[in-house]
Amino acid sequence: MKSNEPGMGNPSSAESSQRQLDLISAALDASEDGFAIWKSVRADDGSIKDFTLLLMNNSGLAGLAGLDHKIEDPIGKNLVEVTGEIPAKGLHDLFERALTEGHGVKDVVTGITKDGSKGSFENTVVPFGRDLVFATYRDVSADQREHKKLLWLTEHDFLTGMPNRAKLQEYLEESFVMTESHKSLMAFVFIDIDYFKEVNDRFGHDVGDALLVNFVKRIKHSLPSRALVARIAGDEFGICIQDIKGEEHVKELMENVFAAMERPFTLGEIETTIACSAGCIVTDGSEPPGEIMRMADKTMYQAKNEGRGRFIVQSLIKTT
Ligand code: GH3
Ligand code: MG
Repeated sequence: MKSNEPGMGNPSSAESSQRQLDLISAALDASEDGFAIWKSVRADDGSIKDFTLLLMNNSGLAGLAGLDHKIEDPIGKNLVEVTGEIPAKGLHDLFERALTEGHGVKDVVTGITKDGSKGSFENTVVPFGRDLVFATYRDVSADQREHKKLLWLTEHDFLTGMPNRAKLQEYLEESFVMTESHKSLMAFVFIDIDYFKEVNDRFGHDVGDALLVNFVKRIKHSLPSRALVARIAGDEFGICIQDIKGEEHVKELMENVFAAMERPFTLGEIETTIACSAGCIVTDGSEPPGEIMRMADKTMYQAKNEGRGRFIVQSLIKTT
């Protein structure tokens, strides 16, 4: 309702203030975001002990529906009583930060969603005077899940669910830094199925796909869990293994991988065997990762040229 509407007469200043408050309250209730005003409770030394609720809009009240404990009237109650244990600590810290820094702050705090599950709430908190904070918040759990899904897609191969080339490169760079700083050793391997086109030609593309999925599972199961196995492209995979003892250790690990590949693959009605070729580089992390990838690729093609069905390990560690 506007104050200059016909027939309204001249409202007293108290009525006018009340109408303004009603308007603000209606606007806040129309918002899909939660809104609340909290007041700090201070100890004798001035430190903030808690916050009590002065006002909450309808979306905020509706947001309390998922809590374990039902709260009849939250006004005047403290943080734990209103929001429950999980968000209270994060909110207390955020409110206190806004008051001590004297400006608006924003953060995502874990809370309880309307359906009672844990979710993420983006809170924007603005201080008002010495003791009040205005907090708006919205449930961003769905946005975060969507973001995670998109991130997963950019880093993984759709068919096998393994990390993709981009993720492998990122991981390699981190591993090189770690290996060099820990003065340890690591291995990088390129492995490619031999004559994979023939599998597609003989049994069809779907069987070829199923073989790729099973192939990568076998690689993973035959290596220590710390090994990162990524699909580079087609039937080519990259493997990064940190904390290697030396060339002999890599040979042992690759013997395991090749032994696992020798067992026949059962794909529905079809049983088939395959072989593969691999190039392995052992490094102390002092060379550029791109250079190690090129060397592993070259070594893998050397294994192909020498007759396939084999791996070659090349160590870059200088023995003195
Ligand atoms: P080589 O012994 O030299 O490795 O020969 P290859 O027949 O294995 O062929 P190559 O590694 O050069 O190429 C990989 C082939 O894998 C090419 C393509 O026909 C097939 N391929 C690539 N991506 C997929 C896929 O996602 N699914 C299936 N089923 N086949 C694929
Ligand atoms: Mg191949």
